[in-house]
Amino acid sequence: MAILEVLHYPDPGLRKKAVSVETVDESCRILAKDMLQTMYENNGIGLASTQVNVQKRLVVIDLSEDKNEAIYLINPEILTSEGTGESQEGCLSVPEYYDTVMRAERITYRYQDLEGKVIESEADGLLSVCIQHEIDHLDGKLFIDYLSPMKRRRLRKKLEKQEKQEKQEKQEKNQAKIL
Ligand code: ZN
Repeated sequence: MAILEVLHYPDPGLRKKAVSVETVDESCRILAKDMLQTMYENNGIGLASTQVNVQKRLVVIDLSEDKNEAIYLINPEILTSEGTGESQEGCLSVPEYYDTVMRAERITYRYQDLEGKVIESEADGLLSVCIQHEIDHLDGKLFIDYLSPMKRRRLRKKLEKQEKQEKQEKQEKNQAKIL
């Protein structure tokens, strides 16, 4: 298994729309396992392929404390949604930022499992929110898109500054090694 690199906002890769998985094969299963490992490594509860710069409709989720209840969703789609509620969210692609967005409370959804079998199910609570958040990723959408433009601008500036600082620190470290 491999740990993959997670893209950070505003990386343009996060805006790409993922395409359907035609056949669920071994390469798909390997990607799913790598994504799961990457998610665990970063202490996330959900990860979409778009976040590791792969444009295939594949999502991994694990809401358990012990990281032993992995859910793999291939070609997931929401069939019906009901109610709306506030959801406090963060994202591995928007580090250290949390905000409240509105999500449907209950959903029914369809997906394929790692064997390619089509399954229909329903979800509420955290699982419902998580599935909505991850399907958004597959469509090139981020949870911060639901925030006001002003809030988003401020966040973007902050993250760009952060990234610049990290780059500079890295450079300084590299130089230190040369000396
Ligand atoms: Zn996310």
